[in-house]
Amino acid sequence: MSTKTGILGGTFNPPHNGHLSAAMRARRTLGLDQVLFIPTNIPPHKQLPAGSATTEQRCEMVRRMTAPYPWASFSDIEVSRGGPSYTVDTLRALHARGYDDLTLIVGTDMLLSFDRVWRAPDEIARLAALAVVARGADDREALAQKADMLHRTFGAQITLVEGPVLEVSSTELRETGDFARLTPPEVAEYILENRLYQQL
Ligand code: ATP
Repeated sequence: MSTKTGILGGTFNPPHNGHLSAAMRARRTLGLDQVLFIPTNIPPHKQLPAGSATTEQRCEMVRRMTAPYPWASFSDIEVSRGGPSYTVDTLRALHARGYDDLTLIVGTDMLLSFDRVWRAPDEIARLAALAVVARGADDREALAQKADMLHRTFGAQITLVEGPVLEVSSTELRETGDFARLTPPEVAEYILENRLYQQL
């Protein structure tokens, strides 16, 4: 039987408990064997604000966050490829490496922009199933409609993942500095030691 692999891509600026909780919920719901956490090199659709962590620091924080969990790992596939990080390129590359049972884990914000913002949504839908994890007070009716439309248009296999929502974003963390409460201790320590996000 092939290994069921989840993929959680993001800027991870910084990684936080919302990322971990999303991966855990998707893993439990879909019975994933492993989840790869993949930091973007250059995010094509968002600008990293001045004073952000460097790419190496974002990677190191993801390494530390995933280390305690045997099912979770850090992948440098986007960083080592360089340039803007398009998910479709990552999925193609993972398929070429023999990962043939892929599930892309995304927050609900990402599902709503899937067909407008993402490059080659039809190919993404062929290469991976989608696990959509609630991030906040989502309009479930709108989500279900969107999932249905993406299924009819692209044949996308979409699972809406239930479970307790953890309302946190990296933006909020950079603004509030509440790292101790909302990032794992390994990440909070790294942020303190390296004086990250102080001049924002
Ligand atoms: P920023 O606030 O800087 O835009 P972010 O918190 O949205 O960052 P990303 O690293 O861009 O974090 O997110 C990567 C992926 O994780 C996206 O699919 C996003 O929807 C999902 N995600 C982020 N936070 C949560 C959360 N609290 N619950 C569920 N999914 C989340």
